[in-house]
Amino acid sequence: MIPLLSVESITKRFADTQVVQDVSFTVYPGEIFALLGPSGCGKTTTLRIIAGFEKADAGTISMAERPLASNSVHVPPESRGIGFVFQDYALFPHKNVLDNIAFGLRKVPKITRHERAFEVLEMVGLSDLHARLPHHLSGGEQQRVALARSIIARPKLLLLDEPFSSLDPGLRQTTRDEVRVLLKSEGISAVLVTHDQEEALSFAERLAVMKDGTVEQIGTPEVVYRHPETAYVADFLGQTNFVKASVKDGIAETPFGRVEVGGTIAGEMLLSIRPECLTMSAPDAGNGRMKGGRIVGQAFKGHDFTYRVEVDGQFYLVQTDYRCPFQIGDTVRLEAVSAVVVRK
Ligand code: ATP
Repeated sequence: MIPLLSVESITKRFADTQVVQDVSFTVYPGEIFALLGPSGCGKTTTLRIIAGFEKADAGTISMAERPLASNSVHVPPESRGIGFVFQDYALFPHKNVLDNIAFGLRKVPKITRHERAFEVLEMVGLSDLHARLPHHLSGGEQQRVALARSIIARPKLLLLDEPFSSLDPGLRQTTRDEVRVLLKSEGISAVLVTHDQEEALSFAERLAVMKDGTVEQIGTPEVVYRHPETAYVADFLGQTNFVKASVKDGIAETPFGRVEVGGTIAGEMLLSIRPECLTMSAPDAGNGRMKGGRIVGQAFKGHDFTYRVEVDGQFYLVQTDYRCPFQIGDTVRLEAVSAVVVRK
């Protein structure tokens, strides 16, 4: 399949700081992609380069094989066929909802513009509010107006820069779900920038995890979560336990039993074991080979528990379901059900 968006080896430096370094990824037609990473890792700069608001020092951007940016080409933002939703929505305070949305089609005759604005207002479920001013809308409604404005011109690609971050957690989840349904039903590809791993994992079909201006790993949410290639990705995508183990013939000898890790590498390796990949049992349950430890902490999270278990002076996190019978102070044995080898 021909990618909709190809980002190849883009690099950007501000003064003496290298902000984006050799970043490459592709987004396929209809695909929702995310750039995930901590604050300052270059996500927004990458997005602004794709939109054309910023010029890369090196590298190329193309859409459906049409060059948008290279060392000899710079297509202006308004001619790229790309929509953009900013973190702060950037609505005009003195324009009502309809005019804010119609602004996204400013080169089209007013009647057509308003017809289409009503159409997208309906899509985002806000037809009744077309005459309101932005400051008479809730955060979630403003977000949907911004979205409607960005899709009115039927962009092939939508860039979303932390668009849900100013919504409270409940609204964030529902707005995110609604936006996702809308993008999928309209067949609009999107690149979401976020530092929230849960958001990236649940919103995107593939994501790039960024670190210090570079891409650390690209994959589906399941792959990057279950098979992180580096300790950084394992750690950034959720809680994990790092364990050193000796690996031979695809089997790791961990303090918590033998675990299949695949591959052909052998020697001392670093493993990432997610808390849900460790199980606890009573020390007498026929598990004498597993290391024993003592529960030193317990966090109740409604649907499950996270325990902190001390084994030989090291602390490990273990996630169990809500029926777990153990208490702080209990002695337990830990067993690893799965683990992955990660690079430092
Ligand atoms: P955040 O999530 O906080 O927005 P980010 O990953 O999106 O972070 P960027 O906004 O791309 O990161 O910024 C990356 C680095 O580049 C930061 O250190 C930032 O201060 C710097 N930077 C961004 N824009 C400029 C600019 N126009 N001039 C100088 N430095 C800049």
